[in-house]
Amino acid sequence: MALDVNDVVPEVARPFLARAGGMLIGSRWVRDTSAGELAVEHPGDGSVLTSVALAGPAEVDQAVEVAQQAFRRWSGVSPTQRAAVLFRLADLMERHALELATLESLDVGKPILTTRMIDVPFTIDTLRYNAGWATKLTGEAYELAGHGGLVSAQTVRQPLGIVAAIVPWNFPLLQAVMKVSAALAAGCVVILKPSELTPLTALRLGELGIEAGLPPGVFQVLPGRGDVAGEALVTHPGVHKVSFTGSGTVGRHVAHRCVETFKRVTLELGGKSPNIVFADADLPRAIAGSAQAIFFNAGQVCYAGSRLYVEDAVYDEVVEGIVAIAGRMTPGMPLEEGTDIGPLVSARQRERVLAYVQTAADEGARVLCGGHALDRPGYHVAPTIIADVREDMTVMREEVFGPVLCVSRFARQNDVIASANASRYGLAAGVWTRDGRKAQTVARALRAGTVWINQYHTIDPHMPFGGWGESGWGREFGRAGVEAYTETKSIAMRL
Ligand code: NAD
Repeated sequence: MALDVNDVVPEVARPFLARAGGMLIGSRWVRDTSAGELAVEHPGDGSVLTSVALAGPAEVDQAVEVAQQAFRRWSGVSPTQRAAVLFRLADLMERHALELATLESLDVGKPILTTRMIDVPFTIDTLRYNAGWATKLTGEAYELAGHGGLVSAQTVRQPLGIVAAIVPWNFPLLQAVMKVSAALAAGCVVILKPSELTPLTALRLGELGIEAGLPPGVFQVLPGRGDVAGEALVTHPGVHKVSFTGSGTVGRHVAHRCVETFKRVTLELGGKSPNIVFADADLPRAIAGSAQAIFFNAGQVCYAGSRLYVEDAVYDEVVEGIVAIAGRMTPGMPLEEGTDIGPLVSARQRERVLAYVQTAADEGARVLCGGHALDRPGYHVAPTIIADVREDMTVMREEVFGPVLCVSRFARQNDVIASANASRYGLAAGVWTRDGRKAQTVARALRAGTVWINQYHTIDPHMPFGGWGESGWGREFGRAGVEAYTETKSIAMRL
């Protein structure tokens, strides 16, 4: 039975939910669409928060047409002015931080403490960081060695054009802003397609973008199904670049589609990240950090430390410590202050996660704790720890995207490096040891885009982030993340 939305929605989020529903094309909020509407559900109790219009190919065509004009205008706006608008947007987000955090918690199901303390402030930091790059992108100057010393050359970085940003549901606002702010700073224009499960903060961001002074069509928001709106965007000949974050299966499909029209493409995909605890580590920190590495956001994190390798001598102590933490975690409703671990985003995701645990048990692994749904409203899965795993087991090879940790023991450094690298993914890794030389040696030997030493989860807009292997192509954050929205042009002048 659908619950009354007013029972769960705090006052701060009600005005937006009451008016939300249209997609942003140009400066218009469009409700009449070719692709119908979708109810937006609160994972905490299944109540319907609102419904939003879904984009189909016709709306994608309209948005691309508007974007073409907008690009001509925006790419001519001075970098200082572009930065100024983005800084204004950051200020507006700060002013509406509680509203954004509340909408994100309602939409994704993540604890309000997390969205207030992490998602929203970090997103605003990211926006300001990328805004700063608008005025700092440069080319290089060369004195060419040949040509009788008569040719002077330079490179300039120019915006790619129209960007389709396609994002998943686990960090909807952050993923959107990472892409949108980098692309706009570089002088591109963006059509954002949020996940069909979590469109709310993307739509609110669209409103704030207009208020901040983004010209019409520079930033458009088209909620829609992946196989309809997403497909229309990635196949549209007018789109120059696709920046995609999501699963490997869809990422592979998107890459194939992009090749057909030679679109530029960045892919941020899944992971099965190893986290290695050596016997000489600061164990209390390693235990707490390793629990956090998998249970943060109920494990719905691309770089979650889902494969834990513990050195023999401390295996029992570490595993017992993490099992104890799992037992103390407080599941709860997303908007309750005391909630440590919220529900998963959907019933489908819960069933998917539980099926992985069952497969692990069928293949001979031992479930130490959890492994079941919680008997309470929402799509909760108990924090789960699985031991006696082998590298060839399904749960060790595939991304579960839930609060499920696989633990195994190791005896030798080279063996654990080989095990850690025996994955087709390569997004992130953790190393816990007091021995600095060992930490650096292992970090360099791991096939991963990011390695954390004596910590996990440190993501910062200064640090390029992205994957090796099947975890993706390209980097977001840092200078590289903004340059990814530019092309290099060489200009040579005869003196
Ligand atoms: P998903 O691949 O199912 O969907 C991601 C986005 O792609 C959604 O907006 C979806 O509508 C869209 N999409 C689906 N089919 C499409 C198509 N044919 N063409 C174009 N777009 C299409 O992923 P998800 O379930 O939303 O998110 C979870 C996945 O995202 C996990 O695998 C996770 O690891 C990954 N992820 C990666 C990162 C990273 O930075 N590497 C960050 C967050 C999440």
